[in-house]
Amino acid sequence: MLLLTATLHATLAAMTDHILESFPIIPPVGLKRIAMRVTKQAERALGRGHPWLFDQAILNQSHEGNPGDLAVVFDSRGKFLAIGLFDPFSPIRVRILAYKKPVQIDSQFYKRNFLKAVKIRSSLPPNTTGYRLVHGANDNFPGFVMDIYDRTLVIKLYSVAWVPHLSDVLVHLNQVVAYDQIVLRLSREVQKHPGNLFGLQDGIYIHGTKVDSPILFKENELIFEVDPISGHKTGFYLDQRDNRELVSTLCAGHSVLNTFAYTGGFSVYAAKGGARKVTGVDISRPALEAAERNFKHNRGNEKVRACIHETYSGNIFKVLPEFIKQGLKFDMVIIDPPSFAKRRSQVDKAIKAYQRLTRLGLMSLRSGGILVQASCSSQIDPETFFAAVHKAAAVENRPLHEICRTAHPLDHPITFKESSYLKCLFAVA
Ligand code: SAH
Repeated sequence: MLLLTATLHATLAAMTDHILESFPIIPPVGLKRIAMRVTKQAERALGRGHPWLFDQAILNQSHEGNPGDLAVVFDSRGKFLAIGLFDPFSPIRVRILAYKKPVQIDSQFYKRNFLKAVKIRSSLPPNTTGYRLVHGANDNFPGFVMDIYDRTLVIKLYSVAWVPHLSDVLVHLNQVVAYDQIVLRLSREVQKHPGNLFGLQDGIYIHGTKVDSPILFKENELIFEVDPISGHKTGFYLDQRDNRELVSTLCAGHSVLNTFAYTGGFSVYAAKGGARKVTGVDISRPALEAAERNFKHNRGNEKVRACIHETYSGNIFKVLPEFIKQGLKFDMVIIDPPSFAKRRSQVDKAIKAYQRLTRLGLMSLRSGGILVQASCSSQIDPETFFAAVHKAAAVENRPLHEICRTAHPLDHPITFKESSYLKCLFAVA
């Protein structure tokens, strides 16, 4: 299915033979722009290039709009400040696309932004065919994420405002990146508004034909499978690539415990780095089965082939005390849990959970072993996280000697504070 506005259908039909019989007709973006005045504080934030305008910051608005209508923000003297996508359902009422000077928001605008995003990624490691091509507002596509897995693009929308713009976004995409199919993923919030989706659904192919076998892609030469429809995020934790590579340089001959292993990203890298044995633990059986397959995909690699890989499915907070009771010790422990704090109110509880994991991890780590602990909670800043991990280690009487602290890889750039979420500590304990 390819989705198009009615006007673009004919043009595209002439350009591509990928158009299938039926596709939703999405009404084009309304021509009438919404004019807005905002608080002084919001004016300053937009002046600094912040991409979010919250509903509470809007002082007045020319008229009620539809999702995806263009909203133009003026300052108190009537000067143009910014233009963005209106979303009546989100507290982020406008997602800003351009600042300071008026600009035409059309297919050429999106193409220019795609080209910039591609350029930023030109230094990714060789033999890497899976990476994030568009990281939302940080690549000037607020609320829009696009990952590539070999020849499959996965687009994830976090705002319905993108729906009427999709045809403009897609029309020149094949001039920027090569692909065979596009999978569309919709956030839970977006799925709540079927009346504004014009038949689009989470997990549909909006271009090309459905791929039945697992999609394989490469990361630093290693081969992974991904399921972009039922997997987490767009299927794989692409953001951990550099941390995985660093793990591989630190574990020759080691026994490695990979907690929250998911589909075995860190596990396969540890094996590539010469780990003797890798133990993956996750609550999800299907994820661990994919981890087993990911080891198989890499059996051409001698070290991966030689590594013993075992998996346990269960709750880490129960499995680790069990391992500890049995006296199991590892040379490296990796702790990469899901986000524990989605809201500010959850921060204290999340920090306690991280500290509990640090302590359990250290009890499972031999003296002089390496602890790798990450957090992907944007609500918790790096300093707070690292301090919490150190404090928990001190309680265990296992002071940490830091190897390094890491943040975002280059395909997940950060241009504003709120979008920074990933931090990871490598330390000898
Ligand atoms: N480290 C992984 C990503 C981890 S995502 C990678 O680099 O690919 C978080 C994982 O934690 C998911 O696979 C989820 O199934 C698992 N999980 C969440 N809560 C858990 C728990 N209490 N015990 C065990 N696994 C859990």
